[in-house]
Amino acid sequence: MRKKIVAGNWKLNNTMDEGIKLASEIENMMKDELRTDVTVVLGTPFIHLSAVGKLTANTDKLNVAAQDCSTHGSGAYTGEISVSMIKSTGANYVIIGHSERREYHHETNAELAIKVDLALKEDLTPIFCCGESLDIRESGKHGAFVSEQLTESLFHLSEAQIKKTVIAYEPIWAIGTGVTASSAQAQEMHKALRSHVANRYGETIADNISILYGGSCKPSNANELFSQPDIDGGLIGGASLKSRDFMDIINSF
Ligand code: PEP
Repeated sequence: MRKKIVAGNWKLNNTMDEGIKLASEIENMMKDELRTDVTVVLGTPFIHLSAVGKLTANTDKLNVAAQDCSTHGSGAYTGEISVSMIKSTGANYVIIGHSERREYHHETNAELAIKVDLALKEDLTPIFCCGESLDIRESGKHGAFVSEQLTESLFHLSEAQIKKTVIAYEPIWAIGTGVTASSAQAQEMHKALRSHVANRYGETIADNISILYGGSCKPSNANELFSQPDIDGGLIGGASLKSRDFMDIINSF
């Protein structure tokens, strides 16, 4: 049985007080309203990890993720945050390879492979993001492109390691644009990614990996997306900043 996951990605939003307020609202709503068996993850800026980690420490339904980690373990790397630092805050997930990091920080598949390794060694669950640009989609090469992202960043992992990894398919043309991939487009890619994982690791492992959809997911379209057989939840940007919308998405399964 695959884990259903709804993960928020706050990106560069929320001061300390705003972040605590948002996380508290979500925690309270989950206590009162959670209808389904779903794991919720709050992907916060680094400054919030510790406070939100404490707030969510008593429930295994609500988890905390960093939005990135360093390729280094420690040392003279000013401004970087290591996986062990993240772990020490109480966070247990880390988003790796978001398209905004790939684009603005030129992160390569090879660097992301290092980050995934470091995260798994620290017992953090990587949420590994992949997805194609509009140009690539229009050229018809999106399947091959996204498969290559997985091959180059994940397929060196052992079976035990890949089992602990979550994949998020996020077509770049749908992120923050209001344009959602249709449920058929998303399902087609999720199915293709799952069979790519099956070719490398076998059907049983592929069947148990959670693959999340990301890209303008909101309360009005979450149910249709999450109803697709290979979509196991969502990575949510904009709509994760409003507790009501985020909770409605959580309850969309
Ligand atoms: C994201 O940044 O991962 C994302 C899916 O953003 P949005 O939901 O705003 O499109």
